[in-house]
Amino acid sequence: MAVNDYIREKFFPHIWCAGCGHGIVLNNMLRAVEESELDKNSIVMVSGIGCSSRISGYVDFHTLHTLHGRALAFATGVKMSRPELQVLIPMGDGDSLAIGGNHFLHACRRNMDMTAIVMNNRIYGMTGGQYSPLSGKGVKASSSPQGTIDAPFDPVNLAMTSGASFVARTTTYHVKEITEYLKQAILHQGFSVVEIMSQCPTHFGRKNQWGDAVSMLQAYKENTVHRDKKDRDSDAELIERGIFLQEELPEYCTEYQNQVQGMDKA
Ligand code: SF4
Repeated sequence: MAVNDYIREKFFPHIWCAGCGHGIVLNNMLRAVEESELDKNSIVMVSGIGCSSRISGYVDFHTLHTLHGRALAFATGVKMSRPELQVLIPMGDGDSLAIGGNHFLHACRRNMDMTAIVMNNRIYGMTGGQYSPLSGKGVKASSSPQGTIDAPFDPVNLAMTSGASFVARTTTYHVKEITEYLKQAILHQGFSVVEIMSQCPTHFGRKNQWGDAVSMLQAYKENTVHRDKKDRDSDAELIERGIFLQEELPEYCTEYQNQVQGMDKA
């Protein structure tokens, strides 16, 4: 199948602003699906609410566009009832780690075989540019015109310490990494979290003087470093990209099936 076969063309043009990073995520996510040679009828995409969550409308998979922060809860139900399906969950930073934060922790802890994609633009785009749990101190938003005083989560550390078994981070500048990490996440047997730093020029860029989309992509290039790079410790300010964790752990649905079969035999 070609990438275009995974798209619902009738829903284009998309709603995203010019220069939004989410289109880059969509493009490379579809390449990851294509390279993984998945049948589109075996994929369920579950999204919540927000600019990032609109991605489920554009793909020709089975799709559920659910409630704000609840995508992981819906996805858990889908996977429990049909464990043979591939479940992809694109979420924004507010969606995944504010109202959805509790679901995120427990999804990591269970290690169910699903792929969570955290599209991190450090702001609530759809509702007018309020700050999120990933904004970081000093970030200006419509709800923090003087700069937020909240410390941010690090989604990678949070996922690793909560039990996810595949954890990676990249940016919309590093498109080949998006495809590669998502492919590995999809093929991984367990709960995978891939954080993709994705620009919102309309709110984050404008309010924080990061400039237009091109300037923001340039910032991702200059402010991040691959964790395999030998001299990465030379600048502690740089954000690390790469695969941080990939380990085989008991998968939840398999464990559950084993338990049920054991009860049948007893
Ligand atoms: S508001 Fe921001 S996140 Fe939403 S579509 Fe526009 S650029 Fe993208």
